[in-house]
Amino acid sequence: MERKKIKKIVHAEKIAAGEVIERPANVVKELIENSIDAGAREIKILIKNAGKTVIEVIDDGVGIPPEEMEIAFHRHTSSKIRSIKDLESLQTLGFRGEALASIAAISKIQITSRTEENELGTQLILEEGKVIEKKSVSCPRGTDMKVLNLFYNIPARKKFLKSNNTELGHITDIVQRYALANPELHFYYVHDDMQILNCPLSNDLKTTVFHLYGKNIAREMIPFEYTDKEKFIYLHGLLGSPKIARKSRKDSSIFLNKRYIISDIVFKAVQEAYKGTLMVNRHPFFILFLEIDPSHVDFNVHPKKLLVRFEDEELIHSKVHEGVRPFLKKHFMREEKVYVSTELKEFMGTDSSSPKSNTEHAIEEIESGSTVIKQETSMDSLNLPPESIQTSLLDHVRGGLTQKKSNLETLIREKYIVEKNFPRIKLISHTGQLSNKKYILLEGMNQEGEEGFFILDQHAASERITKEYFLELLKSSKKQKQKLIVPLKIEVSPSEKYYLLENLSQFQELGFTFEHFGGNTFILRDVPLVFDKTINPSIIKEIISDITEIGKEHSFSEVKEEIINYLSCHRSIRGGEDLALKDIHELLVNLARCKDPFHCAHGRPVLKFISFKELDKLFKRTG
Ligand code: ADP
Ligand code: MG
Repeated sequence: MERKKIKKIVHAEKIAAGEVIERPANVVKELIENSIDAGAREIKILIKNAGKTVIEVIDDGVGIPPEEMEIAFHRHTSSKIRSIKDLESLQTLGFRGEALASIAAISKIQITSRTEENELGTQLILEEGKVIEKKSVSCPRGTDMKVLNLFYNIPARKKFLKSNNTELGHITDIVQRYALANPELHFYYVHDDMQILNCPLSNDLKTTVFHLYGKNIAREMIPFEYTDKEKFIYLHGLLGSPKIARKSRKDSSIFLNKRYIISDIVFKAVQEAYKGTLMVNRHPFFILFLEIDPSHVDFNVHPKKLLVRFEDEELIHSKVHEGVRPFLKKHFMREEKVYVSTELKEFMGTDSSSPKSNTEHAIEEIESGSTVIKQETSMDSLNLPPESIQTSLLDHVRGGLTQKKSNLETLIREKYIVEKNFPRIKLISHTGQLSNKKYILLEGMNQEGEEGFFILDQHAASERITKEYFLELLKSSKKQKQKLIVPLKIEVSPSEKYYLLENLSQFQELGFTFEHFGGNTFILRDVPLVFDKTINPSIIKEIISDITEIGKEHSFSEVKEEIINYLSCHRSIRGGEDLALKDIHELLVNLARCKDPFHCAHGRPVLKFISFKELDKLFKRTG
């Protein structure tokens, strides 16, 4: 190989800039941090074209004096630290002194700023980091930073920018995190003249949560505070009840000394503290602030500074866990009982036509949680811990029901034959549902005319049926939707709001009619026929947030198939769900009518056949 000479790289600053600034959201982050560091009370974020053409951040902070305006745009200049020693007692968000230099290298900038002492402000216009115009202007105190045409001089980077949806999603995420971290500041955020967020100064985190996530979420969050004995850590924030647990852990926010961070260690500690209260694949929803002496933390590990290095990770884990766990036990563990009691359904049998017995009413009450309140009253009078009452009540209920079903047939069907040197075996249930009701056993003939038995994956089958339903729906001119008896009022987060507004007509095609009610609220009027007319708002919210997540990186049409798969999966019979004989019959008829009955929405098999001939071979009956 021929060796090339070492030489200075031309326009190295553009390459270096790429490390800090990958996308518009990074610019927004740096500018908001500068405004906070400048002591602003109000921060306005005005975005055009998802930040690709305009990012403007206006604050009412201390401003920059005329003689320092230009220096601010030089690399490694900062008013915040003087040497590396200052990092040990860092009080500001910024410290590298390279954000403005990096942003200026890859965009056109117009900055206007005025300090208290100066009557007139200064305005600079920069291109590729060079000042091309400087003048005095009259302006309010503070700084107005306008970043235009980001990456205009690095086409390669510009090409890698994602759709407006995605880029705006990232920006919104940043704005939300800073609004959470600073409830005492007023955040005002507008995209293409549409106001996405107006989170007034409140001093109260719960009010901020209300503005960001809506009333229903705010209601389910409980203020939390903890300091350990050694005064090593101070934890505070809001912990969400298990009812509002999320699919994605990204929804929760962790702040370390008011800085938004991503930390596996801290998240795990909290998640483990919620153990026993959450359903599978759910993550707790929380907003947690950690305050630790800055000398125990190193922020200086990543140019985007989202990751941190703790001096002692195990210590952090155990401190967070020990702080959060008792609080959760006190507030939410009672709800855990409500989940457990749903298992009682199994004792109820499937016959819903007969009038409800007292015991069945008792179960419904436990499931809906209403007895929990009742128990609290009886708890006082009996002076017993609530757990023991709950258990004895359950025993009572269980006893009644087992008696009801204990005829000979169920005994024979449900009891395992347990013998030494023999597998544990029981008869198949009368509906033929196998393996925790995941599969259904069927007998018949395959398309080649061979006799044998089939194993049907009930979830896969149902998913296929729903998928074909949605595909039909998209093709047909008359839309198969139904009016909800009571239109649902749904509150969404700012990024979900934007996504919904952008894609109202696409949702309509799928059978969902949403109407913007104002703010973060939508009214849902119609749902596709496959959904229940009495659909639960939390299911709809989950659907919206999941679809927003799927659609984040692409346009709606690009991910339409994925969204249909998602809806199909969501709407389907689950593995483990009890099916009566008539349900199974209906499932089979609908499956038989599908264009591709043999694959679920995701392409996995629905039905497997084993011929009796193979069975005979297996048992060596044929030679
Ligand atoms: P850093 O924030 O790490 O110091 P930056 O490049 O982001 O570096 O900013 C350089 C300097 O410009 C800051 O230290 C600060 O003095 C000044 N500055 C930047 N933005 C503002 C603002 N919005 N208000 C007041 N001063 C600002
Ligand atoms: Mg900065």
